[in-house]
Amino acid sequence: MAVKILFVEDETAIQQLVDLALGRAGFEVALAGDVAQARGRIASQRPDLILLDWMLPQVSGLEFARQLKQDGETRDVPIIMVTACGEEADKIRGLDSGADDYITKPFSPRELVARINAVLRRAAPHASEQVVEVQGLRLDSSSHRITAVGDELVMGPTEFRLLHFFMTHPERVYSRSQLLDRVWGGEVYVEERTVDVHIRRLRKALGLHGHDRLIQTVRGAGYRFSAQG
Ligand code: CA
Repeated sequence: MAVKILFVEDETAIQQLVDLALGRAGFEVALAGDVAQARGRIASQRPDLILLDWMLPQVSGLEFARQLKQDGETRDVPIIMVTACGEEADKIRGLDSGADDYITKPFSPRELVARINAVLRRAAPHASEQVVEVQGLRLDSSSHRITAVGDELVMGPTEFRLLHFFMTHPERVYSRSQLLDRVWGGEVYVEERTVDVHIRRLRKALGLHGHDRLIQTVRGAGYRFSAQG
């Protein structure tokens, strides 16, 4: 799955440049010209990172960053602010608004890609790793194999994706709708109880050596992957 980047910028020339550079670097890019468009894009497909221009018509990038960080659905989407101002005070205001990093125009495609990768690594330290292992449960995304203490576990593709998401985002509670969004993708309309069905299957597949205990139900909230208790 390619990493999805949403670029919010009203200047078409810069939109195109960045679109090209990020596309070349292997990212999937969505573009929005203002905050209203950006909201629509986020609703249809949740980006993995938002590249947000400061100077936008109507609502500024700074204000939008604040709104995104206050909303539970988007709070953990990393944001890189893009700006023409290089003042230290602006940088601090940008980071205060909840942005994860800050890049000043003009920037080179290489610098942009390096910053995006650095922010993504900080946001989900394990997401880029091919192999994740927790208490003897080992998931290898390159070979699509899961083993428990050396024994291969068999599961469907949805359970695999679900487990991969959990193992790379441990110790946090995700609601059913968040899981649908993150694992199934925002464009697919599935009922929330579908999540429960797949959780049940996943737990069954993990039961061989008791790893089903890692998938915890948090009453009234959702599910959490946790190696603790
Ligand atoms: Ca602009």
